[in-house]
Amino acid sequence: MSESCPTCDSETGLREILYGLPAEPVDESKYVIGGCCISENDPMLRCMDCGWEGEYRNNMPFQDKTIEVAQLKPIADMTDTEIEDYAKQLWNKLTDGGKGSNDGHSKG
Ligand SMILES: [Zn+2]
Repeated sequence: MSESCPTCDSETGLREILYGLPAEPVDESKYVIGGCCISENDPMLRCMDCGWEGEYRNNMPFQDKTIEVAQLKPIADMTDTEIEDYAKQLWNKLTDGGKGSNDGHSKG
């Protein structure tokens, strides 16, 4: 392993973090036991010298961390008309341009 710690630059302090209970004793010069609880974002590396942890992996790939949230504008200082207009725009965004939504074309 040619990596060094990004924080203290130690080349000897880095350990690969193992999760779960190892079946046999681990080489403590290479590995450190991270515990048996795996969360959705665990570091894969730990520096024994400074305590740095990093190289996060996503254990739950179906949860995209970069979910785009709709940015809400402050509507406090908008007029009613502006708010209504803004709500429509927002709705169009959320519904992919109104595609497939029932857009007031009522039957009758
Ligand atoms: Zn370090």
